Parts: sequence; structure tokens; C-alpha cells
Amino acid sequence: MMHITKAMIEIRNLLQKVGQSNTVTLPAIVVIGSQSSGKSSVLESIVGHEFLPKGSNMITRRPIELTLVNDPDAKVDYGEFPDLGLHRITDFSLIQKNLTELNMSVPESECVSDDPIHLVIHSPRVPDLSLIDLPGYIQVAGENQPRELKRKISELCDKYIRGPNIILAISAADVDLANSTALQASRRVDPRGERTIGVITKMDLVDPEKGAAILTDRQYPLRLGYVGVISKLPTQSGLFKRDTGNVLATISRNEKSYFSSHPDQFGPGARVNTGTVTLRKKLMQVLEQQMSSKLQVTTDAIHRELEETSYQFKVQYNEEPMTAEAYLAASLDDFKHLFHKFASSFGRPQMHELLKGALDQRVLDQLAARYWNKPIGDLSTALPEPDSIADLPKADPKSPYWHLQLDTASSALTRLGVGRLATTVVASAVQANIDQLVSKSTFAKHPSARQVISEAASTVLADRAYTTSDGIEFSLKPYKYEVDIQQQEWQQGREHVAGVLKTELDHCQGAMKNLENVVGGKKKLKEVMTFVDKARKGDIAVEGETRNGAGGFSAALLAKGREAVFLRDRADIINMRMLAAKSRQCKSLENKYYCPEVFLDAVATKLTQTAVLFLNVEMLNDFYARFPREVESKLSEQMHGGGLERFAREDPRIKRHLDLVKRKELLELVLAKIEGLSQMGSGDRGRELHD
Ligand code: GDP
Repeated sequence: MMHITKAMIEIRNLLQKVGQSNTVTLPAIVVIGSQSSGKSSVLESIVGHEFLPKGSNMITRRPIELTLVNDPDAKVDYGEFPDLGLHRITDFSLIQKNLTELNMSVPESECVSDDPIHLVIHSPRVPDLSLIDLPGYIQVAGENQPRELKRKISELCDKYIRGPNIILAISAADVDLANSTALQASRRVDPRGERTIGVITKMDLVDPEKGAAILTDRQYPLRLGYVGVISKLPTQSGLFKRDTGNVLATISRNEKSYFSSHPDQFGPGARVNTGTVTLRKKLMQVLEQQMSSKLQVTTDAIHRELEETSYQFKVQYNEEPMTAEAYLAASLDDFKHLFHKFASSFGRPQMHELLKGALDQRVLDQLAARYWNKPIGDLSTALPEPDSIADLPKADPKSPYWHLQLDTASSALTRLGVGRLATTVVASAVQANIDQLVSKSTFAKHPSARQVISEAASTVLADRAYTTSDGIEFSLKPYKYEVDIQQQEWQQGREHVAGVLKTELDHCQGAMKNLENVVGGKKKLKEVMTFVDKARKGDIAVEGETRNGAGGFSAALLAKGREAVFLRDRADIINMRMLAAKSRQCKSLENKYYCPEVFLDAVATKLTQTAVLFLNVEMLNDFYARFPREVESKLSEQMHGGGLERFAREDPRIKRHLDLVKRKELLELVLAKIEGLSQMGSGDRGRELHD
């Protein structure tokens, strides 16, 4: 029948993974006792190793859920901390060190924590047992211990000593049983003493008569009885004692020699239970008994939980299976679909528009610098300025000056580094589009995957940036010396530049409106502008202008006024140039010196066309081919070592789905195991344990 405990412990551990299982609880043996009652010594003698944290100031701060696995094939004894991913620790002093550190990780202010440490020990010499070591009860809080420590320990123990757990109540023989905190606690939750085993330690410290009397105690009768032990190990010093792995043998030798030297009190006729070996046997029997008695209710409860889980699975997810792999694959498909849609909508025309837009701005810069320049003088150094637009120089087509101006402007355009500008403009547009695609895709909920995709895009784009940029520059070389414009290109330039000027005009007017709002209205702005205009002409003295302003206007207001005057003048010029571009004179290519706007626009278009041809072949097509592969390879790198599960669980909706599927699978597994047990053990069920 002993196989039940092993299987049930396995089931218990599986059920713990299911999480929050309220209805299914399988019993464990909970060890309680006052500090120094010998609790650690008893546990260590059961396990056969010294592994618990020691030291005068060392109190257990977290429950240790200890699973002992009888493993006949284990060549050496070893421990595992499954939650920490620490496996096969054969050095028990290392286990002790780990436990000490885990214990210390609870801040002193918190006193104790109910977050258990899981430790599994495999050995051919241990019985299958599920034990929980709890902090020892303290009588009076020590000098350096927080006041509520006593209460917190007691509350923590109360949580664990509930049924169906079996209570191992440790009391020392040299302390009156009436004062045993462990027995007092057990009485509160198990008043009839049905699931408490009394362990009396330090039997060697009282005389045999008294010891035997305790073991047959009638004052606190326990159905599972008392066992007397002597679990003191030969003295060793140091915080981490050297583990001999032979603790049980030593202890039981000592016990035998003591108990057999008092046959009247402890011999077979005395009908008392003594010795750690007896205690171990008792624990195995009691746990097995308790587990078997729980077999049917546990089976029923798991059935119910599984039914509920299956129902939820149907209602919430229509029984749709879910794995992290499937989720990643679906997310990738979804993203690729979006990407293909983007790829078919972003090509030469879009690149042309982007690059031409950027060059339009450069054209405007050239025009402003060479043709429209009408600097606004600093107020304090008012310079004589042309009075109105009529004063602006007219481009006399015969004047070599204007020839030079246009040639320089055109050459400046071709030499501004169109290669770099083009690759940068397109690369950042593609990057922005990809980032936007990601934000529309399922990856939006996964910050790290999002970053991987974004980085994949910039890597692929950056790979080609230099060669593309150089290639463009090379192909533009002829234009750097001369640009030959056809009449048709001129015509297109004329139409296009009208739009560019209009947009620029709108911007000026928009900025003007903003200024009006900032200074507090149109009227106010007008006043400042009038002042600025006057000052510029030298009509009024402004020597007095200081950091605090002039003419009753603050310095900040004057700055706004200057800005407004600049915008107004620029708007006037643009208006005038729009008219010029539309005029009859600008119809013909021959008059190009009159119409620098049209000529430069046509040049910009030529540059754009050549650059786009290159960009398409060198950069965009390459990107479309390589980017999806790069994303897949970078994502799969990220999914290693638990990354896939972490990724899928970032999305709360998927996490819930995955949890439910996992829960269902675990419950099915547990049910299969427990039903197998029920069939095998049906004959044994209900067997009572007599001691
Ligand atoms: P805990 O605080 O309840 O875990 O108690 P320990 O197991 O650390 O034991 C407290 C002290 O009692 C230690 O010095 C042990 O060596 C000693 N001790 C434990 N069991 C026995 C025993 O059966 N006989 C004697 N004489 N001393 C014991």
C-alpha cells in the first residue's frame, strides 16, 4: 500500500502547479514546536542529513515545504530547489547555505513570510514524505526582534495546521507538557487529537520514569500517540556543520543504547513508542493512511475542478487550443500580412513624393537665401532697408549676376548631398511605417518583440545606406556640372512650384495666427509690428532698448514682433513670386532667369527621379526581401530559454488562455494518475491505522 503516498505526493506537487486549488488539498505533515524544542534535530534525523539553517540568531522566516522522495536508483542523496531551477545538489552544506539565504531574504521588518521554500530531497534511504517545517514558536521576543514576531509566527503556523494536514507537535521532555506551545496550538485545531503526532525530544534529559510517563500521557491523549526521541547529534561547531550523511545511523545508535538500558520504562512491555526509526515508520503509516482516506474525496474534487475548467474552456475559448508556439506563429503571420500590404503600397511613387518634398524645402532655402532675402535688422542697429517689395532687385535676364545666381543655386542643390538626404528620408519613412505596422499588430502588446522588429528594420536599412547613398551621388554626377531642362519638365515645374509656394504661404499665415494668439490678439501684434517697422526705418529712437524691452513693449514681445514682421514680409514676397510664376513671362523655359522658382523645381524633380531609381533597386527591394527573414531569425533568438512562454504571457488575454489550457491538462493528468491509484488500492481503502 505504500505506493499511494509516493503517487499522492507527486499528485500534490502537480496540484500545486495548478494553483489556487481550493477544493483539492492533500495532506502534508506540518512540523511545529517552540524554539529549541529540538524541531530541527528531529527533522534532520528523519532526513538523515544536516541541512537546516543554524546559529543562535537564526530563526526560520519562511515555511520550508520539504518533499522526501524515496529513490532506490539514486546513487547519492541530493536536494533540489525546483522554483530556483537548482537541481542535484549533492552537497548538503550547500542546501543549508541556500536555505539560509532564502530565509534571510525576508526583511526583518516583515518578520516572517508565508511564501514557502520548496525543497525536494531524493535518497534511497528516505521514506516518501511531504513535510512542512515552520518557524519555531517563540515565548518572548528577543531584544533585537520585532514585537509582532511572536504573533506573526503563530498566525503563520495556524494557516498550516488546518486539516487535512497532520501535525507533528514537538515538545521537549524537560519542559512540562502543559507548557508545550506545540500541543496547545494543535489542541485548538484538532481538539480530539485525531491528526496530531506528539514527539517528545530530549528524552535523555529527564529520568526514565518521568520520560515514560510523558509518553503514556493521559492529560493530552493523542490518537496517533507519542514517540520519544533523542535527536541530539554529537557536538560540532561552526555555522554550517559538516554533514556526514549518517545522521540517522548515529542518532538511532544513541537512542538504542539509551532506551535499551532502561527496559522497565521503555522495553516491549512498557508499550511506549521510542526512537527516530519508529517515528519515521509512524509518519509513513499515518501519511499513507491519511492519503488513502482522502483518495475518494480528492478524486471527486479533481473531477469537479476538471469539469469546471473544461466548462470555462468551452465558454471562454470555444475549446480553441492554445500554445505559446501557435501564438507566436499566428502573430508572425499577422505581421507578415500587414507587411506585405505595406510593401505593395510603398514603392517608387511614394519615395518620389517623400524625396521631392524634402528637396522642395531645399529649393525654398535657396530661393530665400539668394532671391528673397530681406533681412530684418536688429532693432538697436536699425539699418536702412528696402522700403517695399517693389524695391527688391528684379532679375534682369541679361545680367551676368542673375546668371551666376541661378547657376549657383542649381549647383548648390545638386551638391547638397542628395544621396544621403534621399537614403535618410526613405529609410526613416520605412522605419516609421514598420513601427506603425508593429503598433497595429499583435506584437504591440509585447515590448521586447516590438524592439526586436524595430531593430531588425534599422539593421537591414543601415546595411545598405552607405552603398545606396554613394550610388546616388555617383549617378547624379553629371547634374553637378549642368542640368538640361526640357520644355515639358519646365511646364511641370511651373505647376508644381505653385503648390509649393501656396503651402509655404499657408505656413506663414498659420505661424502668424499663432503669434497673434501668443501675444494676445491681432491688434496687439499689429501695434508691436508697427513699432518694429518704425524702428527699422529709424523713425524712432530705440537706443533705450534694453533687456527689458523698448517703446513700452517687453523684450519678449518685441521678439514676437520681429518674427511677425519677418513672416509678413515673407508672405508678401511669396505672394509676389506666385504671381510671377503664373505670369506669361514664366511660361517659357527661355525666361528661366526670371523664374528661378520654376527652374529649381525642375532641377529638384530631375534629382529626385534619378535618386528614386537607385533607391528602389539598392535599398527598398533589398529591404523587402531581407526584412521578414531578419525578423524571424531575431525573434527566434529571443524565444530561447523560456523566452517563448514569457513572450506569449505578456499579453494578459493569452496568458489567461494558456493558464486555462495548462490547468486543464494538469488536471487531466492528475485525474488519470489518481484514478489508476483508486483502482489499485480499492481493496485497501478505509483501512484504519492502529498504534
Ligand atoms: P529547534 O530550535 O527546535 O530547531 O531546536 P534544535 O534542533 O536546534 O535543538 C535545540 C538544542 O537542543 C540544540 O542544542 C540541540 O543539540 C539540543 N537537542 C535537540 N534534541 C536533543 C535531544 O534529544 N537531547 C539533548 N540532550 N539535546 C537535544
